[in-house]
Amino acid sequence: MADRDGYIWYDGKLVDWRDATTHVLTHTLHYGMGVFEGVRAYETPKGPAIFRLQDHTERLFRSAKILGMALPFSPEQISQAHLDVVKANDLKSCYFRPMAFYGSGKLGVAPMKNDVQVIVAAWPWGAYLGEEGLEKGIRVKTSSFTRHHVNITMCKAKANGNYMNSILANNEATADGYDEALLLDVDGFVAEGSGENIFIVRKGKLYTPDLTSALEGITRDTVVQIAKEMGLELIEKRITRDEVYSADEAFFTGTAAEVTPIRELDRRPIGAGSRGPITAEIQKRYFNIVKGLDAEHEHWLTYVK
Ligand code: PMP
Repeated sequence: MADRDGYIWYDGKLVDWRDATTHVLTHTLHYGMGVFEGVRAYETPKGPAIFRLQDHTERLFRSAKILGMALPFSPEQISQAHLDVVKANDLKSCYFRPMAFYGSGKLGVAPMKNDVQVIVAAWPWGAYLGEEGLEKGIRVKTSSFTRHHVNITMCKAKANGNYMNSILANNEATADGYDEALLLDVDGFVAEGSGENIFIVRKGKLYTPDLTSALEGITRDTVVQIAKEMGLELIEKRITRDEVYSADEAFFTGTAAEVTPIRELDRRPIGAGSRGPITAEIQKRYFNIVKGLDAEHEHWLTYVK
């Protein structure tokens, strides 16, 4: 990804893509103490629009607060940086990666002697779990890796180091021929995917795990709102893996994964083993919202002008 044309916002300036580098003794590279976001902009009839930008920026700052990391920029500056990189790179739709990390001033477990540095990069990125996955659903495996305990790493922070757990789970699932992993919490209840929240549908009702050890997903929140508008009952509760096995429908949500149906968990087909009708309706509404085709939800869009 390093060798390409374009610009990355780096500590307040747009720098050439190839020059957006850091030293090998960068603190966060060694210990994973950093925070980041995943944000998307979609092509709309009024040009590119960033979906729920303010909510993502707010979560970035909440993550930093949880880790005790002081960001040297204001939320307004970070949000503006997103607009700047879309324009500088002339993007119509893209995925953004804002990240704050400790620099290379000093190594050792105490990071405080280091400056906090911030980047915002953006590039075109298609369906994270594949176009076919969006239509037909994906195959998922319950992970042998447990999702973080709430008092080991901070589950509400979208922190770099937390993703070692996600990568272990995803690698295991994909090496076994599945598309994604489902992680259980320390008590054995369903937590989330390696980079997604999960919903199931049973007898016309929607269920999703509470957020004890899952990330507070912005797509999850969007789906909660869509469900309300569809008049669907939504129950937030602890969910067991066999409730997923016996669900009528299941799907993952995430900025990267969008709304991706799950057609199989641990070799058991979910419902008819394809995208279910409620999932399809939620997915349709989600894409209409992010693509600026739903006037009711325009307040979630930040147009790039
Ligand atoms: N859980 C995890 C572990 C994630 O990495 C993500 C992606 N940020 C999500 C859930 C979904 O969050 P969002 O909808 O805000 O992208």
